Amino acid sequence: MSAFDITSENLLGVLALQAHVCSFFKQAYAQRQLSHAYLFIGNYGLGISEALDELAKMLLCPHGGDECACCKRIMHKSHPDVHQFYPQGAQGYVVEQIHDLLDVVHRAPIQAKRKLIVIHEAQSLGASCANALLKTLEEPPASVYFVLVSTSAAQVLQTVSSRCQHIPFTFINQAQAAKLVERAAASTPEQARWALYIKQSPKAAIDFLRSSSKMNIRSKIMHIFAIMPDADSWDLIELADELCVLIQIPLDQKTDEQQADFDRSQDFLSAGARKKMQAVHKRELSRAQQISVEEIIDISASLLRDAMFFSEGAHAEIMNQDAVNICDCLAACASTDAMLATLAYVARAKQQMRAHVSAQLVLEAFFLNVHRTLIAGR
Ligand SMILES: [Zn+2]
Repeated sequence: MSAFDITSENLLGVLALQAHVCSFFKQAYAQRQLSHAYLFIGNYGLGISEALDELAKMLLCPHGGDECACCKRIMHKSHPDVHQFYPQGAQGYVVEQIHDLLDVVHRAPIQAKRKLIVIHEAQSLGASCANALLKTLEEPPASVYFVLVSTSAAQVLQTVSSRCQHIPFTFINQAQAAKLVERAAASTPEQARWALYIKQSPKAAIDFLRSSSKMNIRSKIMHIFAIMPDADSWDLIELADELCVLIQIPLDQKTDEQQADFDRSQDFLSAGARKKMQAVHKRELSRAQQISVEEIIDISASLLRDAMFFSEGAHAEIMNQDAVNICDCLAACASTDAMLATLAYVARAKQQMRAHVSAQLVLEAFFLNVHRTLIAGR
């Protein structure tokens, strides 16, 4: 059986959408013409994750991708020869990560004959990281294959993208994306619409709708905006702190996972490598926290945007259809100018808050400032 035969309907049924990608790799593999560096271009949720798994099976499985232990490890994201990198710094990849990556490149594979290195969000490779990577990307050891992933080739540094073979994942339009999200997350069309608006990618929208903690966070934010016209500073601080508790739940879960990961590594990692692992875990955790805070800001921005459309009478434009009452309420007590000023503040806040360490302080300041700009100045 070939690696790219679709034997069971996969998670989203999206690999079928990407038949051209499958047949491309099938052919390249058969003709021994696999390139050592690919750039996958598209949004997650369009089959990219699935294609990565299939490519890993094709490269690493001794039987070309059956359902053996190696394949299972790939599917469970625990194969020691598949290395996935995500940006860990607030501004993207940090050079230290590229040094780690190069260490991995120059070590022999652990279980398979080859290894696959995946660089997610390749647009977050800045100039110094790219420079550190270029030579290896151009001439990696024979056993090493790279896949870089980005939503757009134009956003990746040209020096990097020119060294990769480009694999475009078919663009799907907003209506198709909404259908995909609706089906995969078993959501209503309205939910799919706002989730796509907030998250900007089908995969991220699906993850959002499936996550009870994220849904709780959104409800809490809606509550904050609902009471905002009558709230005082203490109410807002209290609610911001409650939001903080909510974002801490998945972070605690992540800490537990990291600890389990760390405990498992005891048998095969040196003391130095374990120390490094702890540093990586710490960076991952602060990035996860930052993403949660940004998500809160994005949800708030989508509500403010809707309130503005509401006050202008453009009701069909409203994304958060379950927040029409809140829009009504906000429109009654804030002018269009105040809403515009608040939206401008929210956009700035997202940039400014990257440097802060405490999510609690950030969120308290955020909602106080939104309140001041939107309501208190009236
Ligand atoms: Zn296998």
